[in-house]
Amino acid sequence: MDKSKRRVVIAGNWKMNMGPAETPVYAATLAGMYAGVKKDAAVDVAVCVPFISVTAAAAALEGSGIKLGAQNVHWENKGAFTGEVSPSMLRQAGAEYAIIGHSERRQYFGETDAGVNRRALAALAGGLKVIICVGEREDERDAGITDELVAMQLKLALRGVAEAQLSGVVIAYEPVWAIGTGRTATAEEAGRVCGVIRRTAASLYGKAAAEGLTIQYGGSMNAANAAELLAQRDVDGGLIGGASLKAEDFMAIVRAAMR
Ligand code: PEP
Repeated sequence: MDKSKRRVVIAGNWKMNMGPAETPVYAATLAGMYAGVKKDAAVDVAVCVPFISVTAAAAALEGSGIKLGAQNVHWENKGAFTGEVSPSMLRQAGAEYAIIGHSERRQYFGETDAGVNRRALAALAGGLKVIICVGEREDERDAGITDELVAMQLKLALRGVAEAQLSGVVIAYEPVWAIGTGRTATAEEAGRVCGVIRRTAASLYGKAAAEGLTIQYGGSMNAANAAELLAQRDVDGGLIGGASLKAEDFMAIVRAAMR
């Protein structure tokens, strides 16, 4: 498939920033700036906000065209799971996306490949779109196992996900050593590993389905490097942390993605 036919997703990950009092102001700023951006129907722009700010963001972004996501989701819809938030709750609050398996969840909160898979299955069944994060740590890159590791993470995350559900799946290739560090994978290397992800998806679902899959790069993407990263054949968007907290920078990346 021609790259230009794939859906591009530019998603901001606000991480643990912007509470419900700060969110309306910042979201309204983004909405105002986005109103002036020449749109491309094939490009989705989203912000993934803390759970507690989802409702405030939904109100502030209404009618703006900017979509809303959360940064995690539980695998059950309700019950005795203290501290968790379900797919159905996120839909009720106005979220359309959920990030799953972010490296900060894997690194600091014990997230496992099995947990990623359970969350993905539940989120998709509950009508959310998922942004599933995969990526190697620096020691894994140094050990030369990047490609195998990323392929394995992808296969485990997608166990039981049907081909028909792939339209709700975005994969984010996020090398852990590039997240929040100011270090970015070269555009060629980011594109190469995204190609590994696409070929792995092809081994699971066939070439045609894999060609339609949206694969983002994430890891210190910014206004200066976005265009080069997004020009890579297998890179269909970005998951953006730090730069998504600066409206000018985030919108510059959004503009770079509009074809
Ligand atoms: C992220 O949080 O997914 C991320 C890529 O962060 P940053 O852009 O700050 O590296």
